[in-house]
Amino acid sequence: MRIGIPAESRPGETRVAATPETIKKYVAAKHSVIVQAGAGIAASITDEAYQAAGAQIGTAAEAFAAELILKVRAPSAEERALIKSGTVLVGMLNPFDAENIAAMAAHGISAFALEAAPRITRAQSLDVLSSQANIAGYKAVLMAANTYQRFMPMLMTAAGTVKAARVLIMGVGVAGLQAIATAKRLGAVIEASDVRPPVKEQVESLGAKFIDVPYETDEEREIAKGAGGYARSMPAAWMARQAALVHERAKQADIIITTALIPGRKAPILISEETVKAMKPGSVIVDMAVEQGGNCPLSELGKTVTKYGVHIIGEPNLATLLAADASALYARNVLDFLKLIIDKDAALVINKEDEIIAATLVCAGGEVLKK
Ligand code: NAD
Repeated sequence: MRIGIPAESRPGETRVAATPETIKKYVAAKHSVIVQAGAGIAASITDEAYQAAGAQIGTAAEAFAAELILKVRAPSAEERALIKSGTVLVGMLNPFDAENIAAMAAHGISAFALEAAPRITRAQSLDVLSSQANIAGYKAVLMAANTYQRFMPMLMTAAGTVKAARVLIMGVGVAGLQAIATAKRLGAVIEASDVRPPVKEQVESLGAKFIDVPYETDEEREIAKGAGGYARSMPAAWMARQAALVHERAKQADIIITTALIPGRKAPILISEETVKAMKPGSVIVDMAVEQGGNCPLSELGKTVTKYGVHIIGEPNLATLLAADASALYARNVLDFLKLIIDKDAALVINKEDEIIAATLVCAGGEVLKK
């Protein structure tokens, strides 16, 4: 089969959907691979490296004319026009973007949105949300440390003792856990909050303190369990109790990293304007939920702003800042996904009974597939 790897055109997107490592595997499996010239440059992969792995280098039109297209983000309208009806497209296509999915369906594309894969053991190796969130959680801490005007670790020097930074992590999924681990390596003292009960043990096993927000009703306890490993919106009463506790912890914090998301919904507000006002001057917030509306109402998409003396970082898509590793891990996720839809004779076989395929296939045969 002919596999196309276009360059990503979305502003700020530095990743690429295949690396020389994965291309060698596609070529060994008797596929031919065409990479758009310069597709890997932002991730430090040269065209020569792709060629050495067995790929051809071509134009955007040639890459989009392949039978199977591997992308990071959904194609733009101009790119879609280059894709032939009947083509299979794999990428982080945003399953909640109904307009784009309808446009891809109308164009005759069979599209797989990898973010929609279920959180089951068999899907772990193709879990793009996890591979990218892990990178983003790490980078969030480095960005905070870079903006923070003090040390992270406790230091005893001849000129006096420096206190360790206090870091508060809001939302402890994949990104939050990596943020805890990274801040710990830098010597910070860490506290964390999440709605889901199993998180407490994970937080403590990384040497951080869990902020216990008690559940007062069976309904709260039930909603807190989430669905499919994801959080659900908590009742207002629980959110108010969490906010009161977080307000007190935020006053002590030097750095807050917020990662809390509810799939398909606006991110919950966890750090209010009142809380920011009460924080120490010079403290730092990294709002990793900024693209979903933000966990702090004062964060601004794509900007670092200073409000009430607090620096609030609203950089979106942090994984793109580690383009080489983000691409390497993403490309391996894609390779593992393709094992589900390509048989040993290098032919496409789309088994809609497969749980992962059924969840990720967002359109096929001209139809949008309802989930
Ligand atoms: P996410 O990015 O959707 O959300 C980040 C975190 O925010 C979650 O932990 C969520 O509970 C939390 N959150 C939501 N509302 C909150 C609130 N009001 N206050 C505090 N925190 C709040 O989550 P994710 O990183 O995608 O991970 C979701 C879960 O899935 C995790 O437990 C993860 O370990 C699990 N997971 C399982 C598998 C697997 O079994 N294959 C793979 C990956 C992830």
